[in-house]
Amino acid sequence: MTYTFTCDQGHEPVTFTAVADSDEEALEKIMAQAGPHVASAHPDMANMSEEDTKNMITSAWKKE
Ligand SMILES: [Zn+2]
Repeated sequence: MTYTFTCDQGHEPVTFTAVADSDEEALEKIMAQAGPHVASAHPDMANMSEEDTKNMITSAWKKE
């Protein structure tokens, strides 16, 4: 499955894509990609707990 997460909070949309067999694997891959983006574009979000970050991603991602 292909998982896509688009971040457009206060900037042009940035899309992160992960091909994975499970939600856990996809989450890991997307968090690895989104981490540096969040740190540079959303310093406020960088303070969120890992749990909150996961919830934010899984509530917004698309699976195909
Ligand atoms: Zn962003």
